[in-house]
Amino acid sequence: MVEHFLDVKRVPSSSLGAPTSLINMIDLNKIQKEIWDNKISKGFNTTDVNLEFCLAYEELSEAFRAYRKKLPDLGEEFADIMIYILALTRMLDIDLEKELLAKIDKNEKREYKKIRGINFRVKG
Ligand SMILES: [Mg+2]
Repeated sequence: MVEHFLDVKRVPSSSLGAPTSLINMIDLNKIQKEIWDNKISKGFNTTDVNLEFCLAYEELSEAFRAYRKKLPDLGEEFADIMIYILALTRMLDIDLEKELLAKIDKNEKREYKKIRGINFRVKG
C-alpha cells in the first residue's frame, strides 16, 4: 500500500494551470501505479483500450443501478469507475492529475449566463 495523500500547495494558474488555493490532493499518479501493478499481477487487461472503455461504462451502469435501487455498494461502484479511468489514462499515457487540475481551473474561469433556466457559456 502506497501513501495516497500528500499536501499540495497549488501554485498560481499562470505557471501550472492549477487553482491557487491550498488543498489536500490525492496523489492520483501513485494510486494509478498501484492499480496498474495490481492489474498486471492479477492478469487483467492492460493493452485493449476499447475493452477498458467498455468496462468503465459497465461500472458506470453498475453505479447507476446501485443508486436507483438504493443498494449499499454505490460508493464501491464509483471506486470501480475511477479504477478503470485511471487504468485507461495509464494505457493512453495521459497525466490525469495534471489534466484534472487544469480542467478544474478552466471550469472555474468560465462564465455563464442563465437563459430560460439553462446555463450558456459566455466566457472561457
Ligand atoms: Mg463494479
